[in-house]
Amino acid sequence: MPERPARRTDGVTVHKFGGASLADARALQNALSIVEKGDRPAVVVVSAFAGVTDSLLSLVRDLSAGNDSAVRRTIGDLESRYETAARAVVRRGADRQRLLRLIDAAFAELEALTRAPLLLRELPPRAVDRLLATGEELAAQVFAAGLSARGVAATYVSALDLVVTDGKAGQASPILPATDRKVRRILRPCLQKRRVPVVPGFIGAGPEGRVTTLGRGGSDLTATLLARALGARAVFLWKDVPGFLTADPRVVPDARVIPQLNVREAAELAYYGAKVLHPRALIPIARRVPIFVRPFDRP
Ligand code: ASP
Ligand code: MG
Repeated sequence: MPERPARRTDGVTVHKFGGASLADARALQNALSIVEKGDRPAVVVVSAFAGVTDSLLSLVRDLSAGNDSAVRRTIGDLESRYETAARAVVRRGADRQRLLRLIDAAFAELEALTRAPLLLRELPPRAVDRLLATGEELAAQVFAAGLSARGVAATYVSALDLVVTDGKAGQASPILPATDRKVRRILRPCLQKRRVPVVPGFIGAGPEGRVTTLGRGGSDLTATLLARALGARAVFLWKDVPGFLTADPRVVPDARVIPQLNVREAAELAYYGAKVLHPRALIPIARRVPIFVRPFDRP
């Protein structure tokens, strides 16, 4: 059983933005204004922009097939998507240049990472995790810069400094006590300075500090991990559905919102495949922290 979550101390709210809520510049601006207008103290967790993780996974398949041109194309497309987003949220100045340089460097690194695998036609699982992490890391960098551009004091914080995992590639489990300690040590001073930490979801550091991913949809889990460690007042999961539904709306058009679930009911639905929540996202917070699933287009 997990340890009990921290006592609520400073009334912090955790906002997690899913890929769909970061699909394009307009969605991103909307997400930024939700945080700008929201309560403080606040922590933000972001996943990769919509479709980015899928593209990165297609890159892995193309690498194994030795499909050089598809690999270059995917990297080029992703890079221009992040650049467009960056230009949309940071309109001018040194911050914009810094952000664009950062994106450029990240994609240069990604490109370098693909060179040997293209020849070997194989990418080890740890390298896959490194590759996937780029989606979340850059999304969080863009988000933090976007908040700063709006005059909201924000700081990008690497998830590798916060989330400790067992190191299992592709499907790592968080280690709760170690994560609690790191999150408190690093995020509390940041919150005390009235800054909004912006953290990439979905990833954490394994035993040797190496990046590991928490499984598809893992940003939910990042949000509840941070909420647990900080004794958060609430977690908001901003998604492209109106809430927890009676069925998958793509399959059952008249699926209805379930107004409230207890943690066991919600965990069970998530475990049996409800896409709205990562199956293990509720473990860190037991029954202490309320979670609100909110449609980002109708905040
Ligand atoms: N970007 C990752 C995924 O698509 C993690 C997440 O969205 O929470 O699975
Ligand atoms: Mg995603």
